Amino acid sequence: DSIANQIAAGEVVQRPASVVKELLENSVDAQAKTIQVIIREAGKTLIQIIDDGNGMSETDARMSFERHATSKIRSSDDLFRIRTMGFRGEALASIAAVAQVELRTRRSDASRTADELGTLIRIEGSEIKTQESVSCLPGTNILVKNLFFNVPARRNFLKTNSVEMRHILDEFQRIALAHPEVGFSLYHNDSEIYNLQAGKLSRRIVDLFGKQYREQLAYCEEETPYVNVRGYIGKPEFARKTRGEQFFFVNSRFVKHNYLHHAVVGAYEGMIQDGSHPFYVLFIDIDPSHIDINIHPTKTEIKFDDERSVYAIVMAAVRKAVGVYNL
Ligand code: ADP
Ligand code: MG
Repeated sequence: DSIANQIAAGEVVQRPASVVKELLENSVDAQAKTIQVIIREAGKTLIQIIDDGNGMSETDARMSFERHATSKIRSSDDLFRIRTMGFRGEALASIAAVAQVELRTRRSDASRTADELGTLIRIEGSEIKTQESVSCLPGTNILVKNLFFNVPARRNFLKTNSVEMRHILDEFQRIALAHPEVGFSLYHNDSEIYNLQAGKLSRRIVDLFGKQYREQLAYCEEETPYVNVRGYIGKPEFARKTRGEQFFFVNSRFVKHNYLHHAVVGAYEGMIQDGSHPFYVLFIDIDPSHIDINIHPTKTEIKFDDERSVYAIVMAAVRKAVGVYNL
């Protein structure tokens, strides 16, 4: 029922940025090549995501709002085989419990069973208002309006637009970094914030953070049977006092990891001042059976079964790359 949905929604949807994150992950999971994000008032009144991914059939579209109907977890072993970003099947149900949602979706040619017509579903506070066939582009176009319209306590708890927008930008940047092969654009109140062409990771970093990064990056790579590390690190003199531009992705998922951060900083020893933080974007790829993703929806923590090895390999990779500057 809708109260249970609202309570469960609180776990997944804490603020507009959580909606942006879940919807972007869905578009990536649907193999979109380009994803457009349109935001109004820091997501408080509108979050719209348009993708050119696989789209959904009418039945799947309806099912996508049912909690756990689409869960990819059938046994506890499945938790260790997760390859898609989403796996709980509760994001759309949660969002629809606390917002006014309009979904247009149509299966694309890529999904083998292309449809001529798409499906429109309107749902407000878990209540289906409309379900009909419509003509629309292949892919998925979803609007989330007036977040927490039916939960005043939550709506009043939201921070200023600039704070909420900062959270949205953080989520957007993480997903855009994790998927340089996908084109992304972001608009806020009709102004273009980003227009990122699909391409290489180095280009994505420069497009996201600025031209000044172009000459500051060193490629970093280390392959072992247990784990592969690759990405870019910044020159030592490019290290900053403020933390923020450090990114670890484990199997494409953004994670925070203080212990591994320490490994990176350690690799710069003697080259950066105490208390300054090097720039890095590092991808750690590992067999999912060696990691434990905290299954709490909003957690970004992860455990490795052999953390010390990952530490050593990350440090070795970064040390080699830092050495480039010392030739
Ligand atoms: P999860 O991602 O954990 O499966 P969600 O609630 O986020 O759960 O999405 C439910 C289902 O709806 C997904 O598993 C997927 O099948 C479908 N879906 C959601 N968004 C899209 C999209 N943009 N394109 C295609 N299918 C989608
Ligand atoms: Mg999802």
